[in-house]
Amino acid sequence: MTQSTDRNSELFERARALIPGGVNSPVRAFRAVGGTPRFVQRAEGAYFWDANGTKYIDYIGSWGPMILGHGHPRVLEAVQRAVQEGFSFGAPTEREIELAEEVAKHLPSVEMLRLVSSGTEAAMSAIRLARGATGRNRIVKFEGCYHGHADSLLVKAGSGLATFGHPTSAGVPAEVVQHTLVLEYNNIAQLEEAFATHGGDLACVIIEAIAGNMNFVRASVPFMKRARELCTQHGALLVFDEVMTGFRVGLRGAQGVYAQQIPGFVPDMTVLGKVIGGGMPLAAFGGPRALMEKLAPLGPVYQAGTLSGNPVATACGLATLQEIAQPGFYEALARKTRTLVDGLSAAAKDAGVPFSADCEGGMFGFFLLPQLPQNYSQVMKSDAPAFGKLFHALLDRGVYIAPALYEAGFVSSAHGDEDIRLTVQAARDAFQTLSPG
Ligand code: PMP
Repeated sequence: MTQSTDRNSELFERARALIPGGVNSPVRAFRAVGGTPRFVQRAEGAYFWDANGTKYIDYIGSWGPMILGHGHPRVLEAVQRAVQEGFSFGAPTEREIELAEEVAKHLPSVEMLRLVSSGTEAAMSAIRLARGATGRNRIVKFEGCYHGHADSLLVKAGSGLATFGHPTSAGVPAEVVQHTLVLEYNNIAQLEEAFATHGGDLACVIIEAIAGNMNFVRASVPFMKRARELCTQHGALLVFDEVMTGFRVGLRGAQGVYAQQIPGFVPDMTVLGKVIGGGMPLAAFGGPRALMEKLAPLGPVYQAGTLSGNPVATACGLATLQEIAQPGFYEALARKTRTLVDGLSAAAKDAGVPFSADCEGGMFGFFLLPQLPQNYSQVMKSDAPAFGKLFHALLDRGVYIAPALYEAGFVSSAHGDEDIRLTVQAARDAFQTLSPG
């Protein structure tokens, strides 16, 4: 494999003795692709260096948050200043308001929001609020979408689960997920049938509109339009999980992308994470005032958090949001991401490797399939052993992509044209290792 993985291997051994699988989140392990995870020593801009001092062009960016690259000077300065002022107070701060204002300014569907510390917490709380507000129990989620690891959402989810082949997690009682209907992504007929049968009992439909947990799959415009209509008609809330896509695919997130194609389109609730914390533990959920005021202390739906709205995390998130709101930011990011995707596609074509790819803003995905898949089962038809080979061939050439074929990739504003060029060159060489047939 790579030149020298000694120090990574050493650390992996130590980690495995104490930390299950040697990692604190399953996707970090190289279970799907084999080999030793790289232990990160430090990161800067578009790169990180592993424990051997080997440099990689980073297309994970902490799984999405690092849209400005690592250690952006303004973000760093804001965090350093905040640290001096105090780590955590358990009392409100002005910065929480500033961050909330910044988020609400860009998302017309969000009149009020609550800050939490992880996407899991945000999605879980959004579901509770949807149930509390509607007085209904049933929820709809889609196969291949991941909304964190709260019990009721851990039903045939994508991400780490798919690797280990579990339809759901052990430790989740059947009673807890009995209210969760799992439907096929992009299947209008199935969605209509679900509403025809359960419409009056549905609290919400939760969706990754541009799904990043089954690599990169867009909900079709007709599907999204129908989902919006059915939710409105039956009094169910449409919850957009934008933990990954929020401030990543564009300043207005995935909802902004659909609003361009479906006049007047807005979700009822939005779940945010990743970019809004700029790499610190911060997430949020928000929606219309009347709905959000059902939360404690105003309303009957309980939700709380010791570290919610943490002063260091909000400083990091706020500085990040201020940078990405600069004119032209997303245009430049999207152009770069498109160049990468086009370059990879051309390289695959020249090597005779079946390949399809898509991107939006600074998020991309590719498949070793001739056509873009529309749902989870199509995604899983990808050639996993070939992906493993490609992953390692890229890693050996200093390009770090997600170690699983069902994960999206992320480009940051710190990636330069030369990084993209080197990546495409590495892919050209790597595709040669996938001899067709
Ligand atoms: N929703 C989506 C769409 C996600 O991608 C993720 C994490 N990858 C989550 C929720 C959960 O977020 P966290 O890992 O911060 O709990």
